Amino acid sequence: MKSFKLIQLFITLTALSLAGMQSSLAASIKITPLGAHDGEFCHLDRALVLEDPDGTRILYDPGRTVAGAEDSRLGNIDAILVSHMHGDHVGDKHIAKVGGEGCAKPSFPVNVLPNTNVVNIALAKNAKIITGSEMPKFFAAKLKALGGNPKNSLLVRFGASLKVGGVSITTVPAVHSNGISGSMIGGELGDMLNAAGLTAYAGPPTGYVLTFTNGLVVYLSGDTGITAEQDTVVRQHYNAKLVVMNIGDTFTTGPREAAWVVNNLVKPASVIVSHANQASTKGGKIIEGSRVDSFTKASKVPVHVPLSGRTMSFDSGGNCIEGCQ
Ligand SMILES: [Zn+2]
Repeated sequence: MKSFKLIQLFITLTALSLAGMQSSLAASIKITPLGAHDGEFCHLDRALVLEDPDGTRILYDPGRTVAGAEDSRLGNIDAILVSHMHGDHVGDKHIAKVGGEGCAKPSFPVNVLPNTNVVNIALAKNAKIITGSEMPKFFAAKLKALGGNPKNSLLVRFGASLKVGGVSITTVPAVHSNGISGSMIGGELGDMLNAAGLTAYAGPPTGYVLTFTNGLVVYLSGDTGITAEQDTVVRQHYNAKLVVMNIGDTFTTGPREAAWVVNNLVKPASVIVSHANQASTKGGKIIEGSRVDSFTKASKVPVHVPLSGRTMSFDSGGNCIEGCQ
């Protein structure tokens, strides 16, 4: 009789913990990298789809590794975030399909100038484009010129916030540059800018902070050096628990600087590494001596590698609960 009760208790506890696991998975944030090669983290991979439990799907910096609006990995997209106007983030050209040749140097044969990958995807999905600085008017004009709805380009400057579905979105400062190339503008003005070696003013580049409906706060660094706001705004005010950190060096913080930012300024529960600007994995494993390898060794919190097509799930505290390396 006694052992029967014990078995009953065991079954009840197992059922309860399984139910708990299922409900925390259901309330988790799903993040899926859209890179050039399935299962790898390659040169110029940046794009992520972040999905809230309420179904809202947000595409961040699609760049060159989303194969246009027809890329079947996109599914429904409610909003597109663009940290700044450089071609590797907006998408001046892109892959023809996932898994072409060379993780170290994927080819981008599809030229989408002056439209850009971002605008083509926004038009096809009727998605909002959410940016800070002077970028919204540029995207609104592009949408209008291509027969879309200019009101789908929305402004969110530093300190402000807006909601897409249940997800709250704001921009935070990034220290980088943010010129619009003449080729992205097109026409006579574009030609004149290119001939003079100038770009058009788009205001400062940005990062983003997203607050999801399960309470998780995510910081998307964008291309940036070390900023004081990573301490004061991102950690002290927003209390970000998951960071997507650019580590490419030359254009942004390198692995050592990026790890210092994570360890000393933002102090999240975990990090997804991004913008490494080299082949970082082979067979899904980190390549020794790569920037991702250096960053992973220097970071005090778990580092997750964005393997293309592999969905990672995070709880409200920024801990990966499924699908991470
Ligand atoms: Zn970049």
